[in-house]
Amino acid sequence: MLTAELDPQDFLAQARARLEQSRAALARFLALAPSASSADVVEAFDAIGRPLDGVRGAAGLASQTHPSEAIRQVSQVVVQELAAFGTELSLHRGVYERLAALDLAQAPGPLERRLAANALRDYRRSGVDRDEATRERISKLSDELVRIGQEFDLNIASDTRSVVVPGGRAGLAGLPQDFIDAHAPDANGEVRVSTDSTDYVPVMTYAHSAELRRKLQFEYFNRAAPANLAVLQRLLAGRHEFARLLGYATWAEYVTEDKMIRTPARAREFIERVAQAARARMQAEVAELLECKREREPQASVIHEWERAYWIEQLKTRRLRFDSQSVRPYFGYRAVRDGVLATSAALFGVEFRRNDTAPRWHPSVECYELVDGGAVSARVFLDMHPRPNKYKHAAMFDLTTGLAGDPPQACLVCNFPEPSASDPALLLHRDVETFFHEFGHLLHHLFAGRQRYLAFAGIATEWDFVETPSQLYEEWAWDTGVLRRFARHHHSGEPIPDELVARMRAADEYGKGLHVAQQMFFARFSLELYDRDPAGFDPTAHMIALKTAMLPFPHEPGTHFLASFGHLNGYSAIYYTYMWSLVIAKDILGRFEGGLMDQGEARRYRASILAQGGAKDAAELVRDYLGRDYATEAFERWLNA
Ligand SMILES: [Zn+2]
Repeated sequence: MLTAELDPQDFLAQARARLEQSRAALARFLALAPSASSADVVEAFDAIGRPLDGVRGAAGLASQTHPSEAIRQVSQVVVQELAAFGTELSLHRGVYERLAALDLAQAPGPLERRLAANALRDYRRSGVDRDEATRERISKLSDELVRIGQEFDLNIASDTRSVVVPGGRAGLAGLPQDFIDAHAPDANGEVRVSTDSTDYVPVMTYAHSAELRRKLQFEYFNRAAPANLAVLQRLLAGRHEFARLLGYATWAEYVTEDKMIRTPARAREFIERVAQAARARMQAEVAELLECKREREPQASVIHEWERAYWIEQLKTRRLRFDSQSVRPYFGYRAVRDGVLATSAALFGVEFRRNDTAPRWHPSVECYELVDGGAVSARVFLDMHPRPNKYKHAAMFDLTTGLAGDPPQACLVCNFPEPSASDPALLLHRDVETFFHEFGHLLHHLFAGRQRYLAFAGIATEWDFVETPSQLYEEWAWDTGVLRRFARHHHSGEPIPDELVARMRAADEYGKGLHVAQQMFFARFSLELYDRDPAGFDPTAHMIALKTAMLPFPHEPGTHFLASFGHLNGYSAIYYTYMWSLVIAKDILGRFEGGLMDQGEARRYRASILAQGGAKDAAELVRDYLGRDYATEAFERWLNA
C-alpha cells in the first residue's frame, strides 16, 4: 500500500519478502514429481509470479510519483531486483525443460494449453533451447544491443541545435507574442531558435519566414547525424545476427512473430493497403496547400516539407476559423474528471464511488472504488496534477492485476492544471482526449483482472493491440452527445455548442491524408530496414527512394532524418503498430452506429474484448466481437470522409 508516510526500509523489506516467496514458488515448480499432471505443472508455473503482483506495480508507480526521494530510490532498487529475477527466470533452462516435457494434448483445457504454449514460445525466443556456445553469444549480443540502443537514444537526446533567425526578431513574424517575447536577441544582437520541440513545433507551424523554417528543419533533420548513421549500422547488424542465431531469417521476422500481425509479409501488406487508401486524399490536400501558397508565390510548383505544417495551419485558420483556446472554458478540470467517470459508468453499467479515506501517497491523489453489480470490483487512483519530481507525461500504471476474488487496482498519472477555489483549471481539448485515452487503458486493465491465471490478467495482450482500446475511447472525447453531458461553460453553465465541436473536429482532421501517408512511410521504412541482411545496405539511400515514392515532398539533399528517428531503436521494425491499432479501433467504432452511449454494445465490447485480457489471441477477441475478421473499410471511410 503506497502511503505518504511509507518507510523506505519497510518497503524494501516487504518487496524482498515477496521476492523470496516467488523464489520458493520457483523451487516448488522445479521440485514437481515427473508424474505431476499437466494441470499441476501449469498451475505451479503461473504461481511463480503471483507473489510479485502488486510489488511490481507499486514499485513502478512509486519510482515515478512518490514525493519522498528515499522512496523513489528504494523503488528503483526494487524495480531492478524484480527485472533481474525476471531475466533469470526467462533464461532458466530447468523451467524450460519441465514445460517442454509437457504433453500439451493432455492439458485440461484451452487456457492451460495456451499458457504453456506461449511460455515455450517465449523461452525459444530467448534462446534457452540453443547449445551452450550459441546461448553465450546470444547473451553477449543482448547486452551489446542494449548498449548500442542506449547510444542511439542518447545521441538524439543530447544533440540540440539552433539557428540564427534571418532578420532578427522581425523574422519571427507569425509566431505568438509570448514566443517572440521569450526569444530576446543575445549579446551579438542575434535571435536564435533551437531544434527542441518547444521551439521547433511553433516555428514550423506559425513562422511566416519560409527561410527560417527551411534552415531550422535542415538542422532538425540532421540531429545525431552523422554519429547515429554508424550506430544504426551496428544496431541493424547486431539484431540481424541475433535473429539468425535464433533461427529467423531477419529481425523483422523475429519481432513480428509474437505480435497480432505475425509476419513481415502481413505488415507490408497492411502498410501498402493503408498507404494506397490515403493516396487520393493526400494528393488533394497537397493541391490545396499549393493553391494557398500560390496566392503569395504565383510561380510556386511544389510544397516542401518545411511548408507543410505552416500551410495546413494557414488553411485551418482561414477555412475553419477554429481557435483551440475557444473551447477551454467548457473544460474545467473537475467537470472533465466527473464527465469521464460518469460517461464510463453509464456506458459500462458500473459506478465510481469516491473514497476519501483510502491511504494515498500525496494529498492531491484521489481514490474511487469501481462498483459493479453492487460490489466493489476494482480501485482507481487519480494522480493528475504536476508537482516536482513526478513523472512528466500521461500514463496508466497498474498496481495489482487482480486474480479471481482479488480486485485489480490502477492509477492514472497525468499533468493537468490543478483547480482551486478561484481557478477552475481549464484544460485544452487535447488534454480531454488524453484523459479518455488513458482511461481506456485503465478500463482495459480493470475489466481484464480476475482471470484464472496471472499470465492472462490485465492488459496481457499483443503489443500491437494495446493501443486499440485507448484510441477507441478517444472517440468519446470528440462526440457531441458525449461532450454535451459534461462540457459546460464554467461561467454560464451552457453546454458546449454542437457547431463548435464540429469545427474543432474538422480542424483536427484537416491534413489526415498527409498524416497517414507520412506514418506509412515511417512504417515501411522501419520494416524494410530490419527485413534484410544489412551488410552492404545503405539506409539513407533507401530512405530517399521510399520517400520519393510515397510522399509528395522533394527530399532535401544533405538531411538524414533517420539519425534522429528514435523509434528505430525502441520499436525497431514495428512502427506500423500505431496505425494498426487505430484501424482496428475504427472498425470496432463502426459497431456503435446507434450512438456512442449504446450500453448494450459497450457491454458486448467489454465482455468479448476487455474482460478477456490475454486469454485469447487479440485477432480472436476481435473476431468474437465483430463476428468476422478485422477489416480496413471503416478506417478507409473515416479517412476519405
Ligand atoms: Zn496509450
